[in-house]
Amino acid sequence: MNIKIRQLAHEYLPEITAARRHLHQHPELSWQEKETAAFIRKFLAPLNLELRTTDNFYATVAIIRGGKPGPTVGLRADIDALPIAEKSDLPYRSQNAGCMHACGHDGHTAVLLGAAKILAELRHELRGNIICVFQPAEENNGGGRALLASNLLAGLDIGAFFALHAWPYLPAGTIGLRRGAMMSAIDDFEVGIYGKAGHAAHPLGAIDPVLISAYVITAVQSLVTRERHGADPAVISVTMIHGGTADNVIPAEVRLGGTIRTLNAETRERMSRRFTELVEGVAQSFGGRAEVKIDTGYPALVNDDRMLALVEKFANEVVGPSKVFELKEPSMGGEDFAYYLQKYPGAMFRLGVSPASLLHSDTFNFNDNALETGMVMLAGLAIRFLEGFTGSMD
Ligand SMILES: [Zn+2]
Ligand SMILES: [Zn+2]
Repeated sequence: MNIKIRQLAHEYLPEITAARRHLHQHPELSWQEKETAAFIRKFLAPLNLELRTTDNFYATVAIIRGGKPGPTVGLRADIDALPIAEKSDLPYRSQNAGCMHACGHDGHTAVLLGAAKILAELRHELRGNIICVFQPAEENNGGGRALLASNLLAGLDIGAFFALHAWPYLPAGTIGLRRGAMMSAIDDFEVGIYGKAGHAAHPLGAIDPVLISAYVITAVQSLVTRERHGADPAVISVTMIHGGTADNVIPAEVRLGGTIRTLNAETRERMSRRFTELVEGVAQSFGGRAEVKIDTGYPALVNDDRMLALVEKFANEVVGPSKVFELKEPSMGGEDFAYYLQKYPGAMFRLGVSPASLLHSDTFNFNDNALETGMVMLAGLAIRFLEGFTGSMD
């Protein structure tokens, strides 16, 4: 089976490369992936698969029913782009001003289209079913959560889910793996610091929220250094500060914004709780007041040990052990595939795309030299799962 997958991936590569470039040229923001979804459905149409869609958002679920009975496995790609103006001379650079595929989701989508085509071709030999999920709104907009809350996967007894993400720190043709917690939970905060306005030359009687904010920004970093285990990562970044209108006016209010990143559920809960207590306490101690709003975002992405072992074993076969890397650190970035892994066993792996710019940079471009490896990995992993991990692939 491995050989057939490789042959088909190679055969489909020109078409999948063209699809990837088309997607790159026509990026759409989260929840607005109308043309992207239309392109995906048009590509899948000739494969005669059962397609599920919803009127609520632009997801597409393709069901490949195998010729023999067996379990069901899910493969997921994200399809949305980012609000970034692309800086490039590529002939297929973004045609949508202020929007670009800077996170490689064009590549993820193209890879899953290729895998779906390979699996559709082999469907009569498959022992079980494969569900290909083209999910919108990954970029911090909770498309994964919405998809899982919808009835798009209803009645499908999915035994595991797999996904990949482009990784510019590894060369194209390689795979990166991480056991356990691989990506961070995201909790974004908004803080209002309220004082009392006054003349800048006469601070007595005023309560200065700018000064309070300075203490708050400093104080919250103590949570990271003093209130977590040294081996349990956490990041708190204050990324926005808005306040004031004039040199000589103490404003009444300052607003702060930022993000808290954690890998461990208990640490996550404690950081949010202590953040609120600390900010409120600092503001009060200066005679002011703080309001803290924490937007509970993506959970940490935690790979299932057994499923990661399956990915590792298969990756070693596909690219060879010298091209399979253990990722030394988790990423403190977030990823909404985490919701799938709360519900299903499964794993996400990194697909090397170097040389490429950094993710979310205005010059990022998915490296097409990684497409074939991606297709073989997803299609082959699905089959390997159906075969009960041990079935013969050759
Ligand atoms: Zn991203
Ligand atoms: Zn991404």
